[in-house]
Amino acid sequence: MKQIDPSRLELVLHPDPVLRRTAARVERFDGTLEKIAARMLELMRQHKGIGLAAPQVGLSIRLFVFNVTGEPGDDCVCINPELTELAGDVEGEEGCLSLPDVTVQMHRAATCRMRAQDLTGKAFERAGTELAARCWQHELDHLNGKLIIDNMSEADKIANRRALKQLEGKPKKSAAR
Ligand code: ZN
Repeated sequence: MKQIDPSRLELVLHPDPVLRRTAARVERFDGTLEKIAARMLELMRQHKGIGLAAPQVGLSIRLFVFNVTGEPGDDCVCINPELTELAGDVEGEEGCLSLPDVTVQMHRAATCRMRAQDLTGKAFERAGTELAARCWQHELDHLNGKLIIDNMSEADKIANRRALKQLEGKPKKSAAR
């Protein structure tokens, strides 16, 4: 990992190319990683998200943080996460901190299990339902370079056209021609 100051990490928005890269496995568990996770939790809270993946702060590494209850004690850092036993199918609206004002109807597995490592490199496993399961699948997509806008229906495309245009910086039609 290149030299970075974790306290200066900021949210990265679409269409930044870092959001499209497949993130690399974390091999070194050190103090820098801890500071990165702390800053990500801070940004997640600031922007009222329930999850944030490292590519969303410009780092292409397999790490995400989440907290689906908002209780500080429920902050969780997941490193090199893998999802197993994905089951069921629920449709729900999703947003993304890298895509302000965009919401997409997404099909996700209703339940799943996650195997990951904590900040010390210790493996842990958790079962997820509802919001947690949805959040993990969303964050794991980020680590594989996928975004919610990759799965838009025609209705989603129309509803999000203006917000996406703004983000992608396409010139807006001028009122006076
Ligand atoms: Zn997202």
